[in-house]
Amino acid sequence: MNKKRVAVVGAGITGLTVAYRLSKKSEDFEVVIFETDEKIGGKLRTSNFAGFQLDEGADAFLARAPWAVELFDEVGISEEFVSPRSRSASIWANGSLIPLPSPNVLGIPLYPDSEASDVLSAEDSQKIRDGGIPENTITGETDISIGSLVRNCVGDSVFENFVDPLLSGINAGKADAMSCATMAPHLLEAARHKDGLVTALKETYEKTDPESPVFYTHPEGMGHIVKKLAEKIVGSIRKTESVTSIEPSKEQWIVKTSTGSEIVDAVVLTNSAQDAANLLHPLSLTVSTRLSEIEHASVSLVSFAFETLDVEIPENESGFLVPRSSGKLMTACSFSGNKWTHLNDGTKTLMRVSTGRIDDQRHETLDDEELVECLMDDLKTTLGVEKPPLEFRINRWPKALAQFEVGHLQKLEETLSILEVETPGIFLSGSYHFGVGIPASIRSGNEAATRVLERFGRN
Ligand SMILES: Cc1cc2nc3c(=O)[nH]c(=O)nc-3n(C[C@H](O)[C@H](O)[C@H](O)COP(=O)(O)OP(=O)(O)OC[C@H]3O[C@@H](n4cnc5c(N)ncnc54)[C@H](O)[C@@H]3O)c2cc1C
Repeated sequence: MNKKRVAVVGAGITGLTVAYRLSKKSEDFEVVIFETDEKIGGKLRTSNFAGFQLDEGADAFLARAPWAVELFDEVGISEEFVSPRSRSASIWANGSLIPLPSPNVLGIPLYPDSEASDVLSAEDSQKIRDGGIPENTITGETDISIGSLVRNCVGDSVFENFVDPLLSGINAGKADAMSCATMAPHLLEAARHKDGLVTALKETYEKTDPESPVFYTHPEGMGHIVKKLAEKIVGSIRKTESVTSIEPSKEQWIVKTSTGSEIVDAVVLTNSAQDAANLLHPLSLTVSTRLSEIEHASVSLVSFAFETLDVEIPENESGFLVPRSSGKLMTACSFSGNKWTHLNDGTKTLMRVSTGRIDDQRHETLDDEELVECLMDDLKTTLGVEKPPLEFRINRWPKALAQFEVGHLQKLEETLSILEVETPGIFLSGSYHFGVGIPASIRSGNEAATRVLERFGRN
């Protein structure tokens, strides 16, 4: 029997996951991956910077969500993973760096009497002490915003000082508008506990091994993981070949690219919601419109290498977050050498400084020189950095991070159902499905591969 031909659009972690899953059934499927860029990996890209292998985008992934760990286990590289040596981070508040409460869950302190209590109102500290019982009961809601949940259970000062900066660090979003069911389903469940959100979070925390790793990376960078995953794929990866349109052809699809065209049985789009919307526009206006409504934030990441003697950074801290209320351009600063042993040679101090939020796209209006100058100003205010860096590197990531509005998961499910009816054989996945993190992207790749297998697989 003829194999089914599947085109995967995009060779980021989602596309590679789809291709890997399908190539495990290589007797049934012939997979071809199209990638616009000359490199594979999408936002997982590592290159030499100041003598280190430093990531240009994502630099780690959550160890406690199953999807990435499971995939990389299968690929056979998990033994090589390392976890951060420092776990604590600070927040820029009232003109100084204040350690985030420890322990905390997404910034929600489990106990009120930590140093961080200085920035909490007395009323909110009391709410934490009382277990975080919501003022307005949260019962049947399938989704609410993280902001309304946290404000309701533990108050505005906890939300604004800790939770919003932490969460907006993850997807450059506004936690007041963020879908809790998508970004933090465990909070929604915990808030329904009869004794309150904090009580429920404490119960879970007490069952967790505090020593178990929270994040993993590879000492050679995320690019190495991509390389190892790609080596396991049976199929062709066509770099610098962009998919420009998809047209129906009887029961198949013609995939037109920058250099030619291919006839395939199935197409899996793993590019951003906006890019997928453009490709689907002539095929399903409804799906295209729904996808184009998913907003994406642009971010820029500037990596700095300083002479270690020239800067003073808090020992054992992985970095700090900057709340939007500060008005600063920077949103976070990560001390790479404090986090990862392999990025610390004792002579150079590496920092990755992030900027950009869905409601603050100033970085996009600045040229490279202005961007670095503004971030150096922020480093001067927050850390007292006076001396210029030895080197810097700018990575701009336009429209990179999807925003998840309340009700997102239900809307996504509806979109996928409409797609199945209107364009059978075209599948969607990507970091705009279940969250922007690597595990969530892999989960969406797994699910898309399962849908292809269900439709075309032989058992
Ligand atoms: C600065 C930054 C830091 C991050 N840090 C972390 C982190 O530490 N941990 C974490 O878990 N997550 C992090 N993320 C998020 C995470 O990296 C991404 O959400 C995830 O890598 C997305 O993978 P993807 O494959 O879905 O998309 P992408 O990586 O964007 O891949 C999509 C690919 O599709 C290609 N493409 C697009 N259109 C076409 C077309 N028409 N034809 C062919 N190819 C096409 C693109 O070139 C791209 O390579 C970070 C993101 C950024 C921007």
